Amino acid sequence: MTAAEYLVSNGEAIRRAVEAGAPDDQIVEVLRVSGRTVQRWRKRLGLPRNVQIRPVRPVPHGTVRGYRRGCRCGTCADAMRYDGDKYRLARIGLTPPSHGRSGYKNWGCRCDTCKAAGAVVNQAYYRKRLALDVTP
Ligand SMILES: [Zn+2]
Ligand SMILES: [Zn+2]
Repeated sequence: MTAAEYLVSNGEAIRRAVEAGAPDDQIVEVLRVSGRTVQRWRKRLGLPRNVQIRPVRPVPHGTVRGYRRGCRCGTCADAMRYDGDKYRLARIGLTPPSHGRSGYKNWGCRCDTCKAAGAVVNQAYYRKRLALDVTP
């Protein structure tokens, strides 16, 4: 078997394994190839990248800890949002330590300085969305 033939047959094996839904670490173990080789074959064959990278420890879903571990599921995002809101809401009506962007966002201050800083941020966001053409 020539080197090229070997690569093609190996690629076929990887393709079959990927199509069967095998995770990378299993392909690496069974076919005795490196993880980079599997990734290269996925790319070459136009197959999706492996997304079954299993976390070492289970992610505590619905917590800020889960979000910080990189989980973006609904409950983790909600927990993060709630956590941020909790602190923001507690500060509403209080005077921010400094006026500007953080005064607008985190303290709910609507003095002229904070409103101007908030407008700059909102306009930048709006322009970015316009550039991406996602604004309805
Ligand atoms: Zn989660
Ligand atoms: Zn202010």
